[in-house]
Amino acid sequence: MKTDVIDEIKSRIDIHDLVSEYVDLKRAGQNYKGLCPFHSEKTPSFMVNTAKQIFHCFGCGKGGDIFSFIMNYENMTFNEAISFLAGKAGVKIETMHHHDPDRGNKEALIAAHEEASRFFMHNLKDSKQALAYLAERGIKPEMIEQFSLGYAKGERDSLLKHLRATGFSDTLLKKSGLAYFGSGEAHDFFRDRLIFPIFDLRGKAVAFGGRTLSSSKNIPKYLNSPEHPLFRKSESCYALHMAKNSIVQKGYSIIVEGYFDVIACHQFGFVNAIAPLGTALTPGHLKKLKKLSPKVLLTFDADQAGISAARRGIELVYAEGMISKIVLLSDGEDPDTFLRKYGAEQFRKFLGGALSPVRFFLSKAGKNKIEGVRQFLAILSSCNDPLLRDDALRELSDLASEKVMRRELEIISRKSSAEGRRLPSSVVELNSTGETPEMSKEEEILLRIALSLPRMARRIAEQIDFANLADPLARRIFERVLALPQDEELSVDALLSDCNPEERSAISRLTIDPGIDMEEIAKNVSDCIGKIRLKHINMRISEAKDKGDADALFSLLRERTSLTKKP
Ligand SMILES: [Zn+2]
Repeated sequence: MKTDVIDEIKSRIDIHDLVSEYVDLKRAGQNYKGLCPFHSEKTPSFMVNTAKQIFHCFGCGKGGDIFSFIMNYENMTFNEAISFLAGKAGVKIETMHHHDPDRGNKEALIAAHEEASRFFMHNLKDSKQALAYLAERGIKPEMIEQFSLGYAKGERDSLLKHLRATGFSDTLLKKSGLAYFGSGEAHDFFRDRLIFPIFDLRGKAVAFGGRTLSSSKNIPKYLNSPEHPLFRKSESCYALHMAKNSIVQKGYSIIVEGYFDVIACHQFGFVNAIAPLGTALTPGHLKKLKKLSPKVLLTFDADQAGISAARRGIELVYAEGMISKIVLLSDGEDPDTFLRKYGAEQFRKFLGGALSPVRFFLSKAGKNKIEGVRQFLAILSSCNDPLLRDDALRELSDLASEKVMRRELEIISRKSSAEGRRLPSSVVELNSTGETPEMSKEEEILLRIALSLPRMARRIAEQIDFANLADPLARRIFERVLALPQDEELSVDALLSDCNPEERSAISRLTIDPGIDMEEIAKNVSDCIGKIRLKHINMRISEAKDKGDADALFSLLRERTSLTKKP
């Protein structure tokens, strides 16, 4: 059983020992402290608690147990993290170890590509022409190294000979696409081309892209390896294995078009840049990126082709339930040429001006705003995420009918100053971010108590009216407590393994630093519950006022009086 494996791993790996392999930890009271590996910081806000076997970063909010740590650090799925840690702990996973007949095959394919990559890199050192070309394109030697750039000689079969001599079979080489086995003599797939190895997420070469160094118009400028079991163009993103940590840290990926754009971005410090392989962005590329962050920044040419590509891109991003922003580069620039001409600072400013999809469509519609709105709505219909759709519609209504909104706003403010009433928040907050409301202070205190003193959890849960809780996580946790059998206590461990990253973050944060006065727990609990009730009733009172519902208002006011009178 999987849970047995998990427990076994947890019993063998101490979180302090595990995290210490990645982070320099120093003791700080009951906890250990260090610089967070998930965001950049100068003073440590990353804590590890060995008693509870959890970590939490108070800077970026990442938190959880050993599995979450490895999932975040190595960008693994839960199952991958289990196998990884099982390996470390020496725990055998029999039920999960299916026999994979292709396994040897896959390993051989990778080995052939890795060998080819070394061969190409070696060639590059001897090719003055290729090196001169790279220098002319402003690529620094460190980048040549980092991206393992290489060169395929103009000879007919130098790579093929080398791989055969190294011991790879023709069957494998045929499958790999590294050599072409047609009617005549077999020959190399790439000839006289600058080589960009394409890596999988572990950084192993699985394919190549090649740019010709010849000026002949009769051959394609760029050529990619043919697809094989480890290489699907519609799913591979160039440089993703180098960008993944930065994408997680910065919270978004920059999508550029070509190899040189990616390398230039990385060279100038924009390490979260990747490029889709093949020509256009596909759902497969986005699914890969979504695992790291739901936000993407799309860069396109400002010409007609670029604008249509941007429209398609926005639609695809919506269809995946992700969030996009768009920048258009004018005058035939691409990120590569832009960076070399104007530098990192200008590029950063430029990216800062990225447009939301709504703004993009309206700005491209010129005077014909209605048409822009229509086009945007057609694309938004591909989005199945109600929250994303609401956000977009809110932004659209803010921008599109500004005149109408302004008039409405005037009418409301005139009324409100006469009646002393607050403006509806949706009208005032034109820049609403659509974030969920923060957990109230009282809910947080109750959760802290429940998590650090599990035996108190049931007593709290029994006293709360769940409808009064604003935070869905607080509601879920307390509901869960009530659902437990009488003799069972809330287990933070079990909670962590059954929640999403944001919830995990909240749980680890509240557990690792109880921050409550343990002497006055009972008083704290009843104070908080009282305040939550009062808040909820005040909210309903102002709703009743807004609606002008006198009956409801009267009974709510009575309810409030009885509440505040209670000892
Ligand atoms: Zn952090």
